[in-house]
Amino acid sequence: MRHRAYIGVGSNQGDKEANCRRAVREIGGMPQTRLRQVSSWFATEPWGAASSEWYVNGAVAVDTGLEPQTLLRHCQALEARMGRRPSPVRWADRVIDLDILFFDDMVLEEPGLTIPHPELHRRRFVLVPLCEIAPDLRHPRLDGDVRGLLARVDDDKRIREGTSPGGA
Ligand code: AMP
Repeated sequence: MRHRAYIGVGSNQGDKEANCRRAVREIGGMPQTRLRQVSSWFATEPWGAASSEWYVNGAVAVDTGLEPQTLLRHCQALEARMGRRPSPVRWADRVIDLDILFFDDMVLEEPGLTIPHPELHRRRFVLVPLCEIAPDLRHPRLDGDVRGLLARVDDDKRIREGTSPGGA
């Protein structure tokens, strides 16, 4: 287990919480990978105009012997297994969405894979669960840690603890 990675998990279709829980279970079952931490679940208002359906979002920490591109392939295979279909529409509804947020303190820009995830510091729905499990984690490109990024994020989308948009 040479690496520590953080993965964002989200769903806004079907039984969203069950989808997220299944994804977490299967992430823990990936080769050479062990689940270290799982955040709470949050109900989050969707980004973009393509959907009005709220998401359930969370984040996990794993120790893994996989390299970043291999971890990404496993995440994409899991998304496909769970029924996600490629969509040309950005922000389209999705059964499951997995994003590699951080991978050690690596900075990587390869075709199809940017680490840290290029949008993470702009999204409250990523930073809130991440801050629960890794507040002191430093962003290798930006100044500061996850707690600081969350304090500064310019995102007015609503987010509620728990899996119901009503806050239950
Ligand atoms: P999305 O629709 O947000 O799941 O974006 C999927 C696309 O983002 C895929 O084509 C991935 O190759 C690409 N991508 C780039 N960087 C990352 C990352 N850090 N984690 C997950 N997907 C990524």
